[in-house]
Amino acid sequence: MSSKKGIKFYKRTDVKITLWYILTFIVTTIIIFSFMYIRIRHHLIKEIDRFLKDELREFSFKVSETSRDFKWVIKEYEEDIVEREYYPIYFRVLNTDGTVVATSKNFAEIIYPIDQEKLRNIGGGTRYIETVKVPGRKTPFRILSSRLTVAEKFDCVVQIGTRMESIRKSLGNFSENILTAIPIALVLGTIGGWLLARRSLAPIAYITEATKKITATNLGERLRSRQSDDELDHLIATINAMIARLEESFKRMNQLTADVSHELRTPISAMRGEAELLLSKPRPTGEYRRALATYIEQLDFLTRLIDDLILLSKFDSNEARLTMIPIKLDKLLINLGEFFRALAEHKGIKLTAGKMKHATVVGDQTRLQQLFTNLIDNAIKFTPSGGRIDIALQKERDVAKVSIKDTGIGIPSAESEHIFERFYQVDKSRDKERGGVGLGLSICQWIATAHHGNIEVKSEVGKGSRFAVSLPLMTEE
Ligand code: ADP
Repeated sequence: MSSKKGIKFYKRTDVKITLWYILTFIVTTIIIFSFMYIRIRHHLIKEIDRFLKDELREFSFKVSETSRDFKWVIKEYEEDIVEREYYPIYFRVLNTDGTVVATSKNFAEIIYPIDQEKLRNIGGGTRYIETVKVPGRKTPFRILSSRLTVAEKFDCVVQIGTRMESIRKSLGNFSENILTAIPIALVLGTIGGWLLARRSLAPIAYITEATKKITATNLGERLRSRQSDDELDHLIATINAMIARLEESFKRMNQLTADVSHELRTPISAMRGEAELLLSKPRPTGEYRRALATYIEQLDFLTRLIDDLILLSKFDSNEARLTMIPIKLDKLLINLGEFFRALAEHKGIKLTAGKMKHATVVGDQTRLQQLFTNLIDNAIKFTPSGGRIDIALQKERDVAKVSIKDTGIGIPSAESEHIFERFYQVDKSRDKERGGVGLGLSICQWIATAHHGNIEVKSEVGKGSRFAVSLPLMTEE
């Protein structure tokens, strides 16, 4: 049997909740019923015991205080009790050695052997009150045994008892009532439990159906909140937040695909156009050479772009492996300063990598080198001749702070929050001429984050920019 939603009947949550409910109900009922049964039985037996004690007192009074013949008194007592219907009395009087002195006629119904040890104990003053089951009879007997002194003449043992018929009937009635009530309560409880389970799980069906309908084409849709601020509302909010994240990353992916296609297509179409033009008529060798040299430049650009894209996709899929080792940051920056100085001077820029504090961080040598290379390279790209670039390293508590400051063109404040986005360029056409595609800073940011650090920028148009990278120092420092 299975529901229309494709979940097997016995696997459905409402069925499971109802079954648990029934099980709990049955167990609780059994415990409560057993407890009440035991309590009532105990109470009824106590009542019978009280009755027997009263009866014994009356019997003792009759036989011990009278001056009449003992046998005559017994006979009279037997006649008195013979009419009792609900609590018929059974009695027997024994000598302390166990010989029967007197017995009611009905006592023969009870098979109650005389136990010598008990007799001795009774003689010593112990009282016994026992339930005696007779084979073949439904109703047991309750018998009280006690010592009795008859008119200060002799000691004897009296056993006085009654049938526990009333207890059997009362308990039978009680059980019958309970056993009739339980199935009714069970049916009502099951229906109630089932309705309750279905009612509380109904929003889940909505969540399942609504979530199913959301695909890549309608990621803008959201599940309706029930405004009840319960667990299911929280679930809806969580799913909505997840859809929002998916929507955001889908948008970014689409944008990225569009940007990548654009970046690849432009140089390829340009190269193709040039090649067609070259082939349209025979040309001098020099022209071919110049064209091929441009192609190599273009292909270098494309290779760099593809390398950057591969790297970013590795970052995204967590496939980029970092080889973390202690790295002397001051040394790394001085070496980079040396390396870039010639290039900067060639552009008429003064580059200084001044006095630096010793600072060791744990990081990946290649990636950290790439991070600072990108920043210095940008500083050179965006600083006109006559400007200067300063590379500095400071220590602040447990953080190493590297700053790369230039006196270049600067970044408009509205743009500075976007420059770390993929393919973002402040001035697309102008920045392209400088050989970039807008991926450098996103790579820098990823590297800084992967090293548990961050990267910040402060910039003023026309005055220059300052990029600050913070990296945690190695703990032994
Ligand atoms: P690109 O490869 O195009 O340089 P980046 O991601 O490295 O891309 O930088 C993104 C944009 O940020 C650049 O196109 C540029 O407009 C701006 N930018 C980065 N560094 C500087 C800087 N030092 N001075 C001015 N603008 C900068």
